[in-house]
Amino acid sequence: MHTARRALCVKWPLGSSIGYRFSSAKTQPEPTAVRYKVERGPYAVIGDAQASFFTGLLGSERVITDADECEIYNVDWLNSVRGMSRMVLKPKSTEEVSAILRYCNEQRLAVCPQSGNTGLVGGSVPVFDEIVISMKLMNKIIHTDELSGVLVCEAGCVLQTLEEHLNRVGLMMPIDLGAKGSCLIGGNVSTNAGGLRLLRYGNLHGNVLGLEAVMANGKVIDCLNTMKKDNTGYHLKHLFIGSEGTLGIVTKVSIQCPTLPKALNVAFLEYIWSLRERLAESQTKVGYLFKYDVSLPLPQFYALVPKLKERLKDCDIRFVTGFGHIGKLLT
Ligand SMILES: Cc1cc2nc3c(=O)[nH]c(=O)nc-3n(C[C@H](O)[C@H](O)[C@H](O)COP(=O)(O)OP(=O)(O)OC[C@H]3O[C@@H](n4cnc5c(N)ncnc54)[C@H](O)[C@@H]3O)c2cc1C
Repeated sequence: MHTARRALCVKWPLGSSIGYRFSSAKTQPEPTAVRYKVERGPYAVIGDAQASFFTGLLGSERVITDADECEIYNVDWLNSVRGMSRMVLKPKSTEEVSAILRYCNEQRLAVCPQSGNTGLVGGSVPVFDEIVISMKLMNKIIHTDELSGVLVCEAGCVLQTLEEHLNRVGLMMPIDLGAKGSCLIGGNVSTNAGGLRLLRYGNLHGNVLGLEAVMANGKVIDCLNTMKKDNTGYHLKHLFIGSEGTLGIVTKVSIQCPTLPKALNVAFLEYIWSLRERLAESQTKVGYLFKYDVSLPLPQFYALVPKLKERLKDCDIRFVTGFGHIGKLLT
């Protein structure tokens, strides 16, 4: 267990810190381990015996070893970091995730959980040859309680699919972000993603009612509560929200979903909206980029940009831009 927990924690040291640098989308990023001179831990290397174990467990179609196929799981959305994984596993159930982690723990094999691979801080891709555990096939909607607005689903459901499913019964997801067509709810929970609805509907610590997760030794933690009021014992779910795979793999979540508004008043911002949603993507075309993710009090929200421009005026920097989510709750 100790081994796999450490293995599960293998992350690029700059993981979710605030500063990072990435290259243009047209070039293949340098391997993370080379660029950041990170040393591989004392983990085992996948051999024939391990490969046969995984094939026996999942079938050959859900064990990807083809180098070209593995490549998309090795590079992040920003094309900024690159791992060297030679195996991607695609479990379809909690039991399979548990069996994989238990075996990896026993065999000292490092793993990297991956959902939609839209994270912007390099945490979703391996650094070395960690086995990627892709959650994409764990995509069942388990239950929707239209009366209480509670959705229970597997962690691999695409955020947009959940939104469309809920809209049909007069509900909506409490979270929305530009990556909604690709990111998975387990990835959202694991990054404690914020997004466009945060100010109105609160963050995931408030909206996630419960979750199920598998620890590094394969033990399943069942905290899949569906009640809004739960005053029993410790609330372990909060440890998993935002833990980015370092404590285990989230396999199921239950979420409190708001009622879909009956009317929408739309100001003429739609063209602007598209610009906003594609800002992150457009920046990747410029070249090398340092990106900082900060929260600032509303009155000072733009003060950082002129300050940075001033400080960087002697450097060879083409742009300093500020964008993000700005919001104010009307009372
Ligand atoms: C266009 C765009 C807009 C975005 N807008 C926002 C925004 O407004 N607000 C915001 O907060 N973020 C935003 N993001 C980043 C956001 O964090 C991710 O898009 C999303 O939450 C990550 O989900 P994912 O499924 O892609 O996870 P991945 O990127 O695959 O994984 C993210 C991290 O979680 C871990 N992980 C993934 N799944 C699991 C699991 N089941 N169990 C345990 N660990 C897991 C991974 O190892 C990795 O460390 C945006 C990204 C893009 C590309």
